[in-house]
Amino acid sequence: MFDRAIVHMDLDSFFVSVERLRNTSLEGKPLLIGGISSRGVVASCSYEARRFGVHSAMPMKTALRLCPQAIVMRGDMDEYSKYSRLITDVIREEAPVFEKSSIDEFYLDISGMDRYFGCFKWTKELRQKIIRESGLPISFGLSVNKLVSKIGAGEVKPNGESQVAKGAEREFIAPLSTRKIPGIGKETYKKLSFMGVRQVRTLREVPVRLLEREFGKHGRQLWSKANAIDPSEVIPYTEQKSISKERTFSDDTLDIQFVRHKIMSMVDDLAFELRQKNQMTGVVTIKIRYADFNTYTRQKKIPYTANNKVLVDHLLELFKKLYQRRQLIRLIGVKFGGLVHGSDQLSLFDDTMRDIQLLEQMDHIRERFGTGAIHRASSL
Ligand SMILES: [Mg+2]
Repeated sequence: MFDRAIVHMDLDSFFVSVERLRNTSLEGKPLLIGGISSRGVVASCSYEARRFGVHSAMPMKTALRLCPQAIVMRGDMDEYSKYSRLITDVIREEAPVFEKSSIDEFYLDISGMDRYFGCFKWTKELRQKIIRESGLPISFGLSVNKLVSKIGAGEVKPNGESQVAKGAEREFIAPLSTRKIPGIGKETYKKLSFMGVRQVRTLREVPVRLLEREFGKHGRQLWSKANAIDPSEVIPYTEQKSISKERTFSDDTLDIQFVRHKIMSMVDDLAFELRQKNQMTGVVTIKIRYADFNTYTRQKKIPYTANNKVLVDHLLELFKKLYQRRQLIRLIGVKFGGLVHGSDQLSLFDDTMRDIQLLEQMDHIRERFGTGAIHRASSL
């Protein structure tokens, strides 16, 4: 493959940074954002809190035991989505090809740029522009592939810039803990540690056959990653990318309750699909076709979410606004666009966790028995 120049850009403790923009007195203090009830979970925490051993996805209770002086705040996805979009717009203006890999992370393919500017200089300037226009701290890593750039950015956070020269990738990741490799989670890390493998350079020495025996097809990927190999491409981000469902009624209908229930069950199916793919939507659309075949749509930008309840509310509200003609409806459609990766936000701001557990149980049943296994009582 031709030499590539791939950038990973990652906002530093994104939610915390947005809160500090709005309230500068939070600067320098340990801050926890997430569910504020006794069963809540930490969605994001400041570096001051991390020093006490707090990390995201930790129960709020545990976090407060480790760091009792921390300030706890409920998150505001509306605000975070606004900043996420602002930064996406800045990157879109400058970068030839970029991927929005989550609400606060981006990959850029700037191959060929070095002939004109020098890739590192170009990326530094883009970083400064993002900081100027958003006021938010951001770090980046630059290398020949996504894997090494992401690890590089992680190593220099917060407020850091990392460049790994071509040919130096293996050497760069060799001394790191295997936990630093994207895709190696808690379980894999534990298992590797048990095998006596803690450093990336040790992982390299394990025969691929042995890794395949222990980790299945994931085994070869582990070996590739340990060798800094990652041919994956930057997938261009488009807000048009979407998932949708439509339903044509066998008889045109005026029964609004019936139509509303159809909307709810389509939203349930699509939201399930989002969660399966670990994605959230930022743009929802409703579509109505009347008996005379005239078709109308209405869309709305919303805070990123994969939560059924939130999505149902938005779609029913759109339907209410769009259904103005009081005529027979022939078809109804629902579309989720502006998809981004990341579903953890789904649960983290929820106070009770009960809704989340219910959703997880429903997803579990759907996974086992298929999407037909669960329906809202009202849509039966
Ligand atoms: Mg981040």
